[in-house]
Amino acid sequence: MNDLFVFTSFTTSNCYIVTPSLSDGISYVIDLPPDLDPVLDYIKKENLSIGGALLTHGHFDHALGMSSFDGSIYIDLNDEQLARNPEEQLKSFMGLNLDSITYQGELNEVKDLNSNELVVHSNPGHTKGSSSFEFPSLGIVFTGDFIFKDGIGRTDLLTGDTNEMIHSINNVFTGFHDDYILYPGHGDKDTVKSIKNNNILVREYLND
Ligand SMILES: [Zn+2]
Repeated sequence: MNDLFVFTSFTTSNCYIVTPSLSDGISYVIDLPPDLDPVLDYIKKENLSIGGALLTHGHFDHALGMSSFDGSIYIDLNDEQLARNPEEQLKSFMGLNLDSITYQGELNEVKDLNSNELVVHSNPGHTKGSSSFEFPSLGIVFTGDFIFKDGIGRTDLLTGDTNEMIHSINNVFTGFHDDYILYPGHGDKDTVKSIKNNNILVREYLND
């Protein structure tokens, strides 16, 4: 199966290119890390038609590549300010020498994206505008920093909220099909079922 391309940024965030089965060959990019060149090279080499970039949330390790992406960008606009103004976030990562200029380009509301291939889930907690993207035809879901294989996203950063995270786990994550493969914003993939059984933090919050 060649429906999915995975690139892991030096910031450890994952960037994916997904091509849903029924999409007439239209591909989507999930998240735009700062070092986007390998992704752009792949798109060019494979001559892919890109329908847009979908951002799971506005943190710089998932969004700073916006300025080098030539196409429509979709995000939950609750995270617009985070995505446009990475300077505050970058201050806490002094080791990284990254350009932190404010992004001025157009951002589109991801919930308005009209595709019968895609289900957009709003799961605030890590940030206010955190989203997951489900592709039913492929049986996969991209969760960004909401749910990882062995953990969950932190809730102590700007616009994070532990109560919202607990609510999202109980009302969004539990709705994901057990057989789906979950592709997180950092680290390895796993099945939803395995994460429900083995992820200690998810289990703790589910019992809350
Ligand atoms: Zn994040």
